[in-house]
Amino acid sequence: MADTNLSAVLYSKMDIRMEEWPIPEPKEGEVQIAVHSTGICGSDVSYYTKGYIGDFVVKEPMVLGHESSGIVSKLGPGVTNLQVGDRVAMEPGIPCRRCEHCKGGRYNLCPDVIFYATPPVHGTLTRFTTLASDFCFKLPENVSMEEGAMLEPLSVAVYACTRAGVTIGKKVLVCGAGPIGLLVMMSAKAYGANEVAITDISQSRLDFAKKVGADHIILSDTKDAQEMARRATAALGGQPEISLDCSGAESAIQLAIYATKSGGVVCLVGLGPPTVNVPIVNAAVREVDIRGVFRYCNSYQNALDMIATGRINVQPLITHRVTLEQTLDAYKAAMEGNEIKIMIDCSRPVERA
Ligand SMILES: [Zn+2]
Ligand SMILES: [Zn+2]
Repeated sequence: MADTNLSAVLYSKMDIRMEEWPIPEPKEGEVQIAVHSTGICGSDVSYYTKGYIGDFVVKEPMVLGHESSGIVSKLGPGVTNLQVGDRVAMEPGIPCRRCEHCKGGRYNLCPDVIFYATPPVHGTLTRFTTLASDFCFKLPENVSMEEGAMLEPLSVAVYACTRAGVTIGKKVLVCGAGPIGLLVMMSAKAYGANEVAITDISQSRLDFAKKVGADHIILSDTKDAQEMARRATAALGGQPEISLDCSGAESAIQLAIYATKSGGVVCLVGLGPPTVNVPIVNAAVREVDIRGVFRYCNSYQNALDMIATGRINVQPLITHRVTLEQTLDAYKAAMEGNEIKIMIDCSRPVERA
């Protein structure tokens, strides 16, 4: 039987259709990949429920998904670093490689980056895709395909910890206990943070955070950011040198600034409304540096090494599993928001055990 390419295609908001699309052929320097696992990301859900994120609007049918691993199924011309059959994680953003940001080593800032499942670029919630061979990361035997897919959100967390300067001995505050907040908390511990406190508006998310390693959990039951900062400081036994907001919520960013020790760093990882009110003078006069984070840069290998060496265990975060054929159910579950990470098995039915 000839292979087909079942794909989850978003036509417009609340309209995903499962369609057979042509199998893409790898171009120069690319490989074709039989996708194995694809996680659902908050951005996928936003495109599904709203049809846009910021200036990126779904105007034409777009394949969803960008958190993936797979098996190399074909080599394009000139590929020498991979072989057919290799198990790989897929870094889903290909920069232009020519601009000053790319040449300066900060390719995540490239204005011409082609990022999967960001309109109009198709994603990886499909049976077959193609990718630049140097953005594939070979998985060692002790790293599963699901863990390979988790490298995408983990790379965000690893990059955020690098930007924030998390090292041995630091006290760290994380605002927001969604998948990224949890991974940032776990990465901060792996980077040597002494103690990590995490906040959220949901007690069940906090209970989960505690199970996967948070030292302190603090329920955000007030919008009074200064009161929340006092609680965070009390929990950590002193002000955190580093705070990372993974929620994008105004009150959480305010909390991050108020809580952070003078001379420390606030990292903005979560994206919320484009304009927010923050106590900027408080940050200025205490020399609290505010740093942005956009996706990741040279982070995949570090994230892979952290999993391969057992410094971080992302498996408990995968709370729901479905097959590609069940994508619509998976998105409904994602909208309900009770799952941490939903993983979709994109392999061909004959290959499933
Ligand atoms: Zn993502
Ligand atoms: Zn560039």
